[in-house]
Amino acid sequence: MELANRVLNLKPSATLAAAAKAKSLKQAGKDVLSLTLGEPDFETPQHIKEAAKRSIDNGSASFYTASAGIPELIQAIIERTQADTGVSYQADEVTVGTGAKFLLYALFQAVLNEGDEVLIPTPYWVSYGAQVELAGGKSIIIETDEKNHHKVTVKDLENAKTSRTKALVLNTPSNPTGMIYSEAELRAIGEWAVKNNCLIVSDDIYGKLVYNGHTFTPICSLSEAIKKQTIVINGVSKSYSMTGWRIGYALGDAAIIKQMTKLTSQSISNPTAVSQYAAVEALSGDQSCVEEMRQVFEERLNTAFPLVEALPGVVITKPQGAFYLYPDISETLTLCGYTDVDAWVNDLLEEELVAVVSGKGFGTSSHIRMSYATDMDTILSAVKRIETFINKKI
Ligand code: PLP
Repeated sequence: MELANRVLNLKPSATLAAAAKAKSLKQAGKDVLSLTLGEPDFETPQHIKEAAKRSIDNGSASFYTASAGIPELIQAIIERTQADTGVSYQADEVTVGTGAKFLLYALFQAVLNEGDEVLIPTPYWVSYGAQVELAGGKSIIIETDEKNHHKVTVKDLENAKTSRTKALVLNTPSNPTGMIYSEAELRAIGEWAVKNNCLIVSDDIYGKLVYNGHTFTPICSLSEAIKKQTIVINGVSKSYSMTGWRIGYALGDAAIIKQMTKLTSQSISNPTAVSQYAAVEALSGDQSCVEEMRQVFEERLNTAFPLVEALPGVVITKPQGAFYLYPDISETLTLCGYTDVDAWVNDLLEEELVAVVSGKGFGTSSHIRMSYATDMDTILSAVKRIETFINKKI
């Protein structure tokens, strides 16, 4: 059977592939320490699980729901967004999906025609480009400056713009760098997008995970014009430790949201009902669990960062949010006698049983991504093993 080029040209997710490799070695009995995963290691908070159980027991979770999501969840999203950002949305400006990832997929399907261009600053979350291309669009990868903490500037956007530019993807706090755009930086980008009629795809999934006094400004909150130009992508996976429940949401222009919901209706019908009831509780119930988990991540960051920064050859700026470290290891590679980051990452796994993700999947060739969404012992032992690995090679 001849398969579709659409899938043959599609690369599997680099992060999921790295995590799967670490898992299979672990299952084979190897003492692997994995810093690959992009998901909190906490159990979903109990009050959220209880709400899900109630929806099973009282029968609400037994049936199909509206494709955009149950009205209670739409309302909870509107209220949570208003409380967190001060921005108001109407019900027809919200749609729910099976994770933020599906909503990004639906959004690109909804807005891109063949050859439309989407600006994606490096380093980028691994799925943006693949999803743009699945929708027939063209990813325009924008190199960013390490000195500017890999944040895209209006000058970069101006240089990348063509008559086919349709959208810009912004992810703050960023996966993988953990850096946050300032209000002034976002305002400049937002105004540029309005002037150029470029849709802003604002991936705010790590918005609640910010540390050491840093704050997250949602771009949609900066002006009515910027809000109109923006589709916000968010979800419960990272802030409420609910990756397995697969609930995300999108907010923005009703005409685009309507098309995204239509795609849901013709593909998955609706996001899983029980997960939607759980998400209602996550967004409208007691929020103290979010702060408790945030504090644990902050402590891990503050402990792990100086150790990683001190590794031979490593260059890194302290992340401000999300749960990743993204060191530039170009000097380390040279010291260890490597020219290719993938080979270094492979040997680290084989020789010291530490799994990290190569920066190549994020569009940079001399970085690695280390997730600290794992317990402190694993983080500390993994960094120690990385140090042993480097010292052995020097
Ligand atoms: N956006 C970013 C930047 C992410 O890191 C992830 C998950 O890793 C997602 C979106 C998707 O999140 P989910 O589909 O679990 O809601």
